[in-house]
Amino acid sequence: MKSHKLLMIPGPIEFDPAVLAAMSVPTSSHTDPAFIQTFGEALEKMRTVFQSPSGQPFIVAASGTFAMDVAAANLIEAGDRVILLNIGYFSERFGEILERYGAQVTQIKAEIGNRPDPQQVEEELKKGGYKAVYFSHVDTSTGVLNDVPTLARLAHQYGALCVVDGVCSIAAEELRFDEWGVDVAVTASQKAIGVPPGLALWMVSQRALEVCRNRKTPVPNYYGDWLKWLPVMQAHEARQFDYFATPAINLIRSLNVSLSQIVAEGMENRYARHRKMSRAFKAAMTALELDQIPVSEEVAAHTLTAVRYPQGIQAGEFLPRVAQEGVIVSGGLLPPIKQEYFRVGHMGNISFGDLIGTISAIERALSSLGYHFTIGSGVAAAQRAYQESEAV
Ligand SMILES: *Cc1c(COP(=O)(O)O)cnc(C)c1O
Repeated sequence: MKSHKLLMIPGPIEFDPAVLAAMSVPTSSHTDPAFIQTFGEALEKMRTVFQSPSGQPFIVAASGTFAMDVAAANLIEAGDRVILLNIGYFSERFGEILERYGAQVTQIKAEIGNRPDPQQVEEELKKGGYKAVYFSHVDTSTGVLNDVPTLARLAHQYGALCVVDGVCSIAAEELRFDEWGVDVAVTASQKAIGVPPGLALWMVSQRALEVCRNRKTPVPNYYGDWLKWLPVMQAHEARQFDYFATPAINLIRSLNVSLSQIVAEGMENRYARHRKMSRAFKAAMTALELDQIPVSEEVAAHTLTAVRYPQGIQAGEFLPRVAQEGVIVSGGLLPPIKQEYFRVGHMGNISFGDLIGTISAIERALSSLGYHFTIGSGVAAAQRAYQESEAV
């Protein structure tokens, strides 16, 4: 028996031992030149991970929700009109945040498991006067993937900013911040970035920073004011000290280790590996005759899979059975269908062996709960899909 169960949820994920080890070094002063160097390196590597030489990276002690919060607080002034694409739980959250800052939010809601048609988004944008389009790259409640390049292009065509909640996508799903013209992309350390919870990371385009600088009213959030943090981020990237609030020193050390691993793998390789893992896992679920929440492969994320229970299997008995097999997977999250599906995260530095072990645990749980299928058929389908994607 391993001393810990394999954590296969859509964040927090399994963390690399080197990343964890970096946290347990004695905490230095935040003014220590070695730490300033580490912080600066982490900011530089963020540019590679977000594919944004020209954006402004931020690293702040907080969770992903905070990064979303300030992506609204810094851009929105009361009465601003925005479009929100709603594909699930975290889209709903973005809507609540936007309204909290006084935005007039027009929601374009997709049916569960689908994403809004870009044409619908364009029709709304054509009405004019929209300041920004907000959406999740991957909604972790449904496993649905939005088409960022198309949405970013449309937003700009109609003079709106493009703000992306990339908490369940960045460092795993393809995201080309500069090339696609994204204005804000936010994430958190515990997802595909591969660092324990506690850091919010985000990138802001120069265009979005200008919008923030030209506000008529102060940013109604002190700790999250981009312009308070900007000199600190710029100073550290230039290997100089500046202070606004104490950085999460040990977490930033960990972050630098994880970002080094991500950069060493290479972004294209990393996207490809996540697609391959996802294809193998989804092939296994299909072989077990289990449906997924996303309506098609095209709209399905590669960082997680949302799977419907077969008839007669209940969340309350399934999840603990999988845990008994040494693997932790998640229940449903979207209120109307919460009891009908489970979610498996497969992002970060997991091995194919971890994926196979997860499929095996799911098979054993289903089998023991009376579901009829050929034991091993999920594992075999994953092996085949994995091998096929290696051949291409
Ligand atoms: C996890 C997640 C969040 C929330 O992040 P926290 O770190 O829990 O605040 C927001 N959006 C998406 C898409 C997520 O997956």
